[in-house]
Amino acid sequence: MSVKTVTSLTNATVKAVRALHMRKEREDSGLFLAEGLKIVIEAIDCGHAPKILMYGPDAADHPMLQKAAKACAGAGGEVIEVNREILEKVSRRDNPQAVVGVFRQVYTPLSAIVPQSADCWVALQAVRDPGNLGTIIRTADAAGAGGVILVGDCVDPYSVEGVRATMGSVFAVKIAKATIQEFLAWREEWPGSVVGTLLTATVDHKSADYVKPSLILMGNEQQGLPPELAAACDVNVKIPMRGRADSLNLSVATGIMIYTVTG
Ligand code: SAM
Repeated sequence: MSVKTVTSLTNATVKAVRALHMRKEREDSGLFLAEGLKIVIEAIDCGHAPKILMYGPDAADHPMLQKAAKACAGAGGEVIEVNREILEKVSRRDNPQAVVGVFRQVYTPLSAIVPQSADCWVALQAVRDPGNLGTIIRTADAAGAGGVILVGDCVDPYSVEGVRATMGSVFAVKIAKATIQEFLAWREEWPGSVVGTLLTATVDHKSADYVKPSLILMGNEQQGLPPELAAACDVNVKIPMRGRADSLNLSVATGIMIYTVTG
């Protein structure tokens, strides 16, 4: 297995990896960054070999690094040993992870989603905060949900910040995207309950009847769910707000809903 050693910040691969902090570069290349040996190994275990594997001196002797390097090289990827300065620039952190992987983004077409393969799926309309999206992907994975459908103009699930928040779950659940019109057409064939979440709903989230597989629809952080999407749901529910706060954080509300519908 060939391993290159790179020490220059002007190296073409180093520049290309650093550029993955920018959405346009991620969209053009179809690639994204995931940091940390544990997460790289999880990715490999989920069938995603890195296209580029970069590691620093702190990881060189780690027994799991061999597994990651073999998977990368075996899939035709590049294995590169770098110095700490490069890792800091690549991760934009003073205290970087010792291993960074570059992976291919995967979007599942709506038509390839098998609703019955999970009890619960999550649709997010115009989610804007990468930390919220990453946390929701992690929660969906933890609760055994099938995946997350991004409806309308959403933040990139493959942003560095979002991927960090998923803690590796970005490799474990399906991610799809759709326009509002595509979502509304696809939703027509949904075999279970389509559940909207709305602060103005009159049905308590615990008292609704959820038919599996349930599809939970969550609204944007500022505006909430638009009327046309709320109207397309079988039921709209509200999680009770008992104190001064008038709403929950989107990722917290999504977590409560996923565990409510899955029982
Ligand atoms: N000002 C927005 C509104 O009027 O809907 C608040 C949006 S809230 C921060 C973001 C999303 O989280 C909502 O669209 C909804 O999907 C969900 N959410 C937050 N609190 C909720 C609650 N108490 N009941 C049901 N859904 C809630």
